[in-house]
Amino acid sequence: MRFAIIENKLIPSHCLATPVSTLPISSYENLQAKPFNPSFSPNKELPRILTGKQLLIDDLPFTIAEIQEHYENGYVLYRKGLEINGKLTICYRCGNNDPRMFAIFPCARCHEECTYCRSCIMMGRISACTPLISWTGPDFKTNLFDSPLVWTGTLSEGQQTASQRVVSAVKNNEDLLVWAVCGAGKTEVLFAGINEALSAGKRVCIATPRTDVVLELAPRLKAVFPEIPVASLYGGSEDRHLYAPLTISTTHQLLRFYKAFDTVILDEVDAFPYSVDKTLQYAVKQARKPHSSMIYLTATPHEKWQKECRLGKRNFVTIPARYHRHPLPVPEFVWCGSWKKHLKKNRLPDHVLRWIEKRLHSKKQSLLFVPQIELMEKILPLLQKLHPDIQSVHAEDPERKKKVQAMRNKEIPLLLTTTILERGVTFPNIDVAVLGAEDRIFTESALVQIAGRVGRSADFPNGAITFFHYGKTKAMVKARNQIVWMNIEARKMGLIDG
Ligand SMILES: [Zn+2]
Ligand SMILES: [Zn+2]
Repeated sequence: MRFAIIENKLIPSHCLATPVSTLPISSYENLQAKPFNPSFSPNKELPRILTGKQLLIDDLPFTIAEIQEHYENGYVLYRKGLEINGKLTICYRCGNNDPRMFAIFPCARCHEECTYCRSCIMMGRISACTPLISWTGPDFKTNLFDSPLVWTGTLSEGQQTASQRVVSAVKNNEDLLVWAVCGAGKTEVLFAGINEALSAGKRVCIATPRTDVVLELAPRLKAVFPEIPVASLYGGSEDRHLYAPLTISTTHQLLRFYKAFDTVILDEVDAFPYSVDKTLQYAVKQARKPHSSMIYLTATPHEKWQKECRLGKRNFVTIPARYHRHPLPVPEFVWCGSWKKHLKKNRLPDHVLRWIEKRLHSKKQSLLFVPQIELMEKILPLLQKLHPDIQSVHAEDPERKKKVQAMRNKEIPLLLTTTILERGVTFPNIDVAVLGAEDRIFTESALVQIAGRVGRSADFPNGAITFFHYGKTKAMVKARNQIVWMNIEARKMGLIDG
């Protein structure tokens, strides 16, 4: 799109009565909202769709002329999608400033060689001539809710403490890290804080890297906040234009939001590889209001954050024990030599073989994690000789859901898996082993999560977690230390029995 500036006003070329010179929006400086005209009557649909968002013209079911009218009356703001300053280019939607992540194409909209951002292209192309459109009029109004939480469950002592801290962070617009061990029951810890926010007319977002989690959380939150409209956002979801006091979103979809939320709850901060972390941080920063609270949830904060917690530089609370008051199972390290060499001869190391046979014999279900799909394919036939019902699963496996269900139904004695099952799944009574725990894919956080699969159910709070390795890594040691430390904390706080 090309714009002219007439009387300090941006005017899209489509809306110009007479031809004047125009430029892509990235060529203009100091773009500001026009003075608010209180006598203008806006389209009622626009604030519902645009409040707290930054959208492209293609995302909006309105004509350019209509948007322009709202801009001229101070209800809509145009921002540049890209800032191009000599050699430096920044994408204002995703924060990308890596020169390799921009490309040039012959653009049909501005009729120039136009630069675009490759990093957020999956949300629709942002180029040098693309305006980001936001709402500056009065916010869309929803009903006020007086204590909408309907929940009769009880919190464990550890959950209770964390829940109070969340409420206070929400009230005072503070940042808080909730460091809760796997199986602590972190969702319930949020209920009181979300209730506090909604009762105060605040807008809340729960963001998570994974669509699975959005799909799992949405019905749980709808059940405890039955009066509250809830929007679930993920690639291809239908709630895209729904204005909701409570939004559950993948972190990716946050790129469409701008100064929207009073409270952002970021789930599984550790599930992000460091490289995407920057985009995520940018997206979250854009999506929250300047004056807002931020709750980070994780079972395994990365090293920098752990250090900040120890040094008292970060506001945090731990839930070091599970709801059922049993300690976390601590990983056992077993050296198994060059297991890859064994595999080349179509054999498994003796230790591993004995571990598996013992479980098959006693009919205890187990998970065996391996670092790569290729290795898994090599191991599967060896294991199927021991038991024909043994199965394997990985991220792209079309039968993934079916196999996880079969495991739940106890039709599979041992499930061989990549890190895909490291989080989010619960099987009540299992032992877990990692083969090749020294592999780089098994980070500290991945190993803590894997260990966290064991002993989750109150009926079966114990279980074995074994790391088979060919040389201990720092990640393995740190993961074990973290678990041991949590158990010590939990004992100190009186959160575990025995
Ligand atoms: Zn263009
Ligand atoms: Zn971008």
